Amino acid sequence: MTDFFDQASEDEDKFRDYSVARQRAKNQPIKFTGRCLSEHCNAQIEKGRFCDSWCREDYEHGLRMKKILGR
Ligand SMILES: [Zn+2]
Repeated sequence: MTDFFDQASEDEDKFRDYSVARQRAKNQPIKFTGRCLSEHCNAQIEKGRFCDSWCREDYEHGLRMKKILGR
């Protein structure tokens, strides 16, 4: 006979691991891609994520819009 309670706590552990992994993935900094992250720019850059503040604002505006639209 399998121990029902052992099985239950094992599932709980798995669920917790999964939640932690998901949370970690969310907190990952955005990787350097060599390209400006602005959708309307996409210029090659040496470092960072954007070529100027306009592009950063454009990107952040895009994120906000996605949140509002729920995508
Ligand atoms: Zn740019």
